[in-house]
Amino acid sequence: MSLKEKVAYIKGFIKGGGVTEKNFEEIVNLIVDALDDVASVLEELEKNQLDLEEYVESIDDDLANLEKEFWGEEGEAVEEEFEEIECSNCGEMFFVPIEDLYSEEEIRCPVCGKAVVVGEVEEGGDGKQAS
Ligand SMILES: [Zn+2]
Repeated sequence: MSLKEKVAYIKGFIKGGGVTEKNFEEIVNLIVDALDDVASVLEELEKNQLDLEEYVESIDDDLANLEKEFWGEEGEAVEEEFEEIECSNCGEMFFVPIEDLYSEEEIRCPVCGKAVVVGEVEEGGDGKQAS
């Protein structure tokens, strides 16, 4: 019997015959039995709750570490600098991370999809120079 069924049974029991001296003990036993179930359920819930709290805390810690990694120790964003370049194929202007400009990686134009030749970018350029 589920707890709800037990309570319903007790209710029916009391409603049916009323509490008499004869059934008093039986009713009390039924109630105690139901209370026992309530206690068990509460205990289980409390345990789950603690597990959950622990789990949330560990997630929170992980998140804090990720934030630290992402924003840097001082809470400042590790800003990526961008440089505006012109596609050597279609002439479209677009931004690429400066990091990529100086890496060996190929830069592809987002418009025509062709690899862009980056030759005239000077180190330390601020991207505001007209090309
Ligand atoms: Zn292009």
